[in-house]
Amino acid sequence: MTVVRFAPSPTGYLHVGNIRMALANWLHARSSNGRFILRLDDTDKERSTHEYATSIEEDLKWLGLEWDQLERQSARLDRYRETLEKLKTAGRVYACYETSEELDYKRKRQRSQGKPPIYDRSGLELDAAKLREYEAEGRKPHWRFKLDHNDIKFDDLVRGPVHFHGSNLSDPVLVRGDGTYLYMLPSAVDDVDMAVTDVIRGEDHVANTAVQIQLFEALGALPPTFAHTPLLTDISGKGLSKRLGSMTVNSMREDGVEAMALNSYLARIGTSDSIMPCISLDDLAVDFDISHTGRGTPKFDPEQLKTLNAALLHATPIEDVYARMLGLGLHRANADFWMAVRSNLERFEDVILWHKVCFDDIETVIEDVSFGKAVADLLPVEPWDETTWKKWIEKIKEKKGYKGKNLFLPLRLALSGLDHGPELKMLLPLIGRARVMQRLEGKKDGNV
Ligand code: GLU
Repeated sequence: MTVVRFAPSPTGYLHVGNIRMALANWLHARSSNGRFILRLDDTDKERSTHEYATSIEEDLKWLGLEWDQLERQSARLDRYRETLEKLKTAGRVYACYETSEELDYKRKRQRSQGKPPIYDRSGLELDAAKLREYEAEGRKPHWRFKLDHNDIKFDDLVRGPVHFHGSNLSDPVLVRGDGTYLYMLPSAVDDVDMAVTDVIRGEDHVANTAVQIQLFEALGALPPTFAHTPLLTDISGKGLSKRLGSMTVNSMREDGVEAMALNSYLARIGTSDSIMPCISLDDLAVDFDISHTGRGTPKFDPEQLKTLNAALLHATPIEDVYARMLGLGLHRANADFWMAVRSNLERFEDVILWHKVCFDDIETVIEDVSFGKAVADLLPVEPWDETTWKKWIEKIKEKKGYKGKNLFLPLRLALSGLDHGPELKMLLPLIGRARVMQRLEGKKDGNV
């Protein structure tokens, strides 16, 4: 069975780049009846907060990306300790005592000699006397994983065949001097323990994958399948960061972006599939294939999202929004109302305005009182439907001679108070004869 995980660190709010990763994993699992794990990579106690963890869960729920299993790395420290001890016994991790200044200095020197800044493994050279000296000074070791200097190859679902050589990589630090874990080991241990089969993540992790492949082997496990996607940038090509408030899920939601508009956009941005509004995640999952992801850098375009948001609303059935309309206090909203106004919405909240236009007191505009009176006299009797408008207009043209913009704009202003909006033939039966009469007479609707 396919098992994937989305593994954010709760050190900030989710932005659209993170969501793209969550969604890719979710759709990948869903399209193969697999499982989706939400794993909070919260080993960094200083920067991880409960508030961020909660916001991650809320954002995913809002998007409909529910998880089958929730894991927290902070609850699994014993397991990492145990694994570390095994790796020590197997001679795959070794103690190092350099300070970060010393490491910086080494790297600078290597660079100035035109060499890559690869750790020189001096930790392996320390003799017993030196180790005693460091301990006497009170230095605490950090622990590095000893890479095998051989070929590391994997087939990436996005990048194709990937090849590294162990000798071109630094032995990674697994545990800091203060005993806290860096990303590398817990992630691999979790992927093994949680039986993760497919890892979909950003291409900033490709070199980590090379290291982790050796970690999986050292842990006696087979590596999962990998897919590394190019990272999403903003429209100007700048990378996204957790500190960029405007790109967070929350700010999108507050701006009136529909969850499914964001899902529709992020599921296909940067892929060979065309972006179109999808009203359900299941529809998106049907066509989802991570290998359709391209190698170019996708740019997040807020204007394209806005267009998609409107298109999605225009295609949304009443069942999906009825409860939301009631939640906004729009008690007269029904299927006819929704069908009349949905194609005029850019944001869902725009329905409030049209509900008011149809059912409440509004300021209408009567530029010519005699016009109002003349057309009011010709109003058909109820019951009204979508054909009423045409009958009324034909009578007005025939009896009063108004036509073109001398007819339609004044009518729209008189009936809705606005110079734009849904088709009047749809609005007319919703507004109803009594209210139309009042508006044409320039009266407030009062108790109609
Ligand atoms: N916490 C890591 C990150 O947010 C997870 C990377 C991974 O998927 O392995 O980059």
